[in-house]
Amino acid sequence: MQEGVVQIQERARAKKLETYPDLKTVDTTPVRVTLHDCLACSGCITSAETVMLEQQSVDEFMKQVSSEDKAVIVSISPQSRASLACYYGITPLQALKKLTTFFKSLGVKAVFDTSCSRDMSLIESCEEFIKMYKAQGKTNCFPLLASSCPGWVCYAEKTLDPYILPHISSVKSPQQTMGAIIKRFASFNMGLRVDQIHHVTVMPCYDKKLEASRDDFLFSIEEGNEEAGAGKFTEVDCVLTSGEMLELLQAKCSDFTLLDESPIDRMLTNVDETGHLYGSRGGSGGYAECIFRHAARELFNKELPSHLEFRTLRNSDFKELTLEVEGEVVLRFACCYGFRNIQNLVRKVKSGKCQYQFVEIMACPSGCLNGGGQIKPKKGQSGKDLIQSLETAYLNEVDVSDPFENPIIKGLYDFWLGYPGSEKSIQIMHTGYHTRERSVTAQLSNW
Ligand code: SF4
Repeated sequence: MQEGVVQIQERARAKKLETYPDLKTVDTTPVRVTLHDCLACSGCITSAETVMLEQQSVDEFMKQVSSEDKAVIVSISPQSRASLACYYGITPLQALKKLTTFFKSLGVKAVFDTSCSRDMSLIESCEEFIKMYKAQGKTNCFPLLASSCPGWVCYAEKTLDPYILPHISSVKSPQQTMGAIIKRFASFNMGLRVDQIHHVTVMPCYDKKLEASRDDFLFSIEEGNEEAGAGKFTEVDCVLTSGEMLELLQAKCSDFTLLDESPIDRMLTNVDETGHLYGSRGGSGGYAECIFRHAARELFNKELPSHLEFRTLRNSDFKELTLEVEGEVVLRFACCYGFRNIQNLVRKVKSGKCQYQFVEIMACPSGCLNGGGQIKPKKGQSGKDLIQSLETAYLNEVDVSDPFENPIIKGLYDFWLGYPGSEKSIQIMHTGYHTRERSVTAQLSNW
């Protein structure tokens, strides 16, 4: 079977014909489904039987890591780090250090942390929001909708009218931002050509595999810099989920908890001088809170307290945050997780009744810590208990910090991109969205 292609075979068609005998006259050529048809609904994409993602697999990772021609670089998400830490009963910092030992023993060149690139995504998002607010006024163009969840972006492109796409933030997700940093800048500091790098990420969901394979994230080397490598490149070559990472550890290492703890690769990892991890709040990236704080400071000269109280609305996956100045609500943001809440929200956007200026939208109920690629609860552990443990592990060991103060990101702006929202930042750290034809649906309607 061709890579990345699902074939609906005789069995499924026969069942349909039996159920609906009047459909016998229809063309019964098997329908071909590609990754471009995926709605990221988690229905089939999580099933190893139906999707052949050979480029995005443990086997491919092992093939690349044993290739002499490739330098493999791994970027680990904080959600995956928390998932592995909870599974093994260690801290996220220990998990990161042991993962560094593990990967380096296989021949991986460097192990980074996407909390670092997330700080750049957050800064670019803050800048984008302020620009939009200043250009359009308080209510004209809103809401701006977060773009870091590929499940939500894919749903918007495939099933919603084009009215929704201009609302989606153009900022790349932390995964793609890390890819852009590594392949378009850091590689040169590491003495590597782009075509020598195989960039692998460890992520909490399968949808990140789809994100990495989007054509929008292909790039060519800038003119005049051809010695860096020729051709078109992807920012991320392979995505492994937290669960796949666990399978790899179980296959290759008899007891992960007994591995030594290696020094962390500091070049693109949020670890401070004293060895503490730092980053933003929020198991899904903390977009709403970070932009809210920044907007309060920049637009209303308000420094907000370290803890902000979100107000729960219909359910725990729909919360809002407001800022009042002289009795008037001047900022109204929301976090909206899970498709049930998303559908309600987009209806309001369409009818012009959405009162939010920014919404952090995530496809998974409870957000990324509960992603479909995370390690499943242990026997006897409820899903709720697991999320609680993940949140505790995730939040307790990371010192909360302002992304604008991240010295690594400051360096990247100083030496490479200029400043947040610069022409170069827009070119490299932002992307676009497109209405995608629902080819499968169109074909299925003929059944
Ligand atoms: S909310 Fe779920 S689908 Fe979206 S990025 Fe997070 S884990 Fe992936």
